[in-house]
Amino acid sequence: MSERSTVPRERLGALLRAMPKAELHIHVEGSLEPELIFALAERNGVALPYPSVEALRAAYAFSNLQSFLDIYYAGASVLRTEQDFFDMAWAYLQRAAADGVVRAEIFFDPQTHTARGVPMGVVIEGLHRACVQAQSQLGVSAALILCFLRHLSEEDALQTLEAALPWRDRFIGVGLDSSELGHPPEKFARVFARAAELGLHRVAHAGEEGPPAYIWGALDALHVERIDHGVQAAQDAALLARLARDRVPLTVCPLSNVRLRVFPDLAQHNLRALLDAGLCVTIHSDDPAYFGGYLLDNYRLTFDALGLDAGHARLLAANSIDASFAAPTDKARWRAELQTVFERMAIP
Ligand SMILES: [Zn+2]
Repeated sequence: MSERSTVPRERLGALLRAMPKAELHIHVEGSLEPELIFALAERNGVALPYPSVEALRAAYAFSNLQSFLDIYYAGASVLRTEQDFFDMAWAYLQRAAADGVVRAEIFFDPQTHTARGVPMGVVIEGLHRACVQAQSQLGVSAALILCFLRHLSEEDALQTLEAALPWRDRFIGVGLDSSELGHPPEKFARVFARAAELGLHRVAHAGEEGPPAYIWGALDALHVERIDHGVQAAQDAALLARLARDRVPLTVCPLSNVRLRVFPDLAQHNLRALLDAGLCVTIHSDDPAYFGGYLLDNYRLTFDALGLDAGHARLLAANSIDASFAAPTDKARWRAELQTVFERMAIP
């Protein structure tokens, strides 16, 4: 039964903010705001090809995934020291806490940095320090997921994983991101098998721009526990049945999908259809500095565009907690908090 009629729009907005949520699809390099890019460029003496913060922000007019990635890598070039990586992650975690995030599983792309001569330890220690501080100062549980850039070779990914092993206790899993088309999951079967041997969690971007076959590949060749994006699954009924049966989470990023033209606008996004098909769908921000909003913006704008109600809110928040890699005791505590929020706001 729809609860929409019983929950006024203002209360729905407050509910979306108050309910505990997990952010499971956030690239920390994609949280770099133009202001921080300029501050870090100045601190490190890096020349930027943009004269001002405004000019850089104006350049965020992408037409597809590749045109976004080109500017994303240019922005990341200002990151040099451990303090830079800390500052970037800390800025993100403060915003996440303000949006009601209780758990953040943060993607980072070491190859973007090690290829520029930044040591692996500088990247991981800076990010890790921000995660530790998030727990003590913000009450946010934060963990890192090391992502491989799929436009590079599997050999490069294998070397990257080995290079990160001295910091094995600083990250909980591996992921696969960057340019999807032309780089099917099977290309990375060996490095994902190695990650499994090491006891690492596994996720992969699949079915953002790529075909349903890439989602099948991520499941069957990489044995991932979550699919990042996955919206193209809607084209394949057998795949939808598989994802529903195995309760494989899809970490969907609505504002990203619109900015990168996966859907023409939010009203035409298939998130609601995927929920209706019984899938474990979650909402996330992807690269919030570049795509027009953080987690709460993604929730609010998607709820408005698709006419979602309080029942969907509870389902999406619960899905995000269930789909996280947090400890069972933490998940149980956040589920209880979710229940309390609904009771306090007198929402059935
Ligand atoms: Zn992503």
